[in-house]
Amino acid sequence: MGLNAENIFDLPRPLVIAGPCSAETEQQVLHTACELAKVGVKVFRAGVWKPRTKPGHFEGVGARALSWLRNAGQVTGMAVMTEVANAHHVEACLKAGIRLLWIGARTTSNPFAVQEIADALRDTDITLLVKNPVSPELDLWIGALERLQDAGITRLAAVHRGFPSYADTLFRNMPHWHIPIELRRRYPKLPLLCDPSHMGGRQELVATLCQQAMDLGADGLMVECHSHPEQAWSDARQQVTPAQLRQILGHLVVRDRQQGLTDIELLRKQIDECDEQILELLAKRMSLSQEICVFKKAHNMTVLQTDRYQQMLTQRIALGQSLQLDATLVERLFAFIHEESVRKQMEYFNR
Ligand code: PEP
Ligand code: MN
Repeated sequence: MGLNAENIFDLPRPLVIAGPCSAETEQQVLHTACELAKVGVKVFRAGVWKPRTKPGHFEGVGARALSWLRNAGQVTGMAVMTEVANAHHVEACLKAGIRLLWIGARTTSNPFAVQEIADALRDTDITLLVKNPVSPELDLWIGALERLQDAGITRLAAVHRGFPSYADTLFRNMPHWHIPIELRRRYPKLPLLCDPSHMGGRQELVATLCQQAMDLGADGLMVECHSHPEQAWSDARQQVTPAQLRQILGHLVVRDRQQGLTDIELLRKQIDECDEQILELLAKRMSLSQEICVFKKAHNMTVLQTDRYQQMLTQRIALGQSLQLDATLVERLFAFIHEESVRKQMEYFNR
């Protein structure tokens, strides 16, 4: 008898939801579910319809995998869940008896799709998790939750999976922790989970992100798990094995929320995040400066372009002032960055 979908939020903290990115075969679903049940996982996830960024990739096996999920739930006693992105998906899940659903980041971003799902779920008894939208807009996330609540869905939770960035970053999706922190401030009773797999995009980052989510008081974790991650049909780099999950959970320090992070620690977390972004941008700036250097040498230009340097400083100081930054600070900062840039370019010229 599967665990009731109703009571997953009553499970001890952290609520751990684990399973493959995608249901691939009946055997894979059952085997992974059995392994995860042995790790103590109570809720199993697997995507059946996969929203892929580009066409031509595996898009999920579709509705026929729903019976594999239901069966895995019956065999292991786990609650089972999958992602829905439109009313057809909802209807197929209701028909197959899948009572736990999540809405993916791309769907949360689209109010029409969310409304369609809300309408299809009206007057049903479903538990629904809502991932953050692709853009870092808290109101869009809250708007989706409100649409679902207005349709009478009471067992709702939010899943923080991070936000894509134009720049190359350490993460597949930037955490922007201040967004879930603000969501929690506004809706302290709404269960909030973290998805370290889509956030990190890499196996090696999963453990650290799980711990960071716990440090911030998250209620649970949604972790992608595959028996052979390297052979996964989607998101191969970010999935961990059930054995790795056991280790990650074994090392997790779950802090008491009553004596959880103080305000200063929350602020420090945000400062750490700002500094990471500053360094990533600095590295990007240096690599652009390197490209310019190649161009200068090829076109017989001098390293130092005084007019450009003067213009750059003037513009940066003006921008800094509009952001309430002291002119001397901005001038010194950019003089220093420019000096380093010139030093590297000279090195290249003299090679
Ligand atoms: C997923 O959980 O497999 C998924 C597609 O997630 P997201 O919507 O966060 O990209
Ligand atoms: Mn995935």
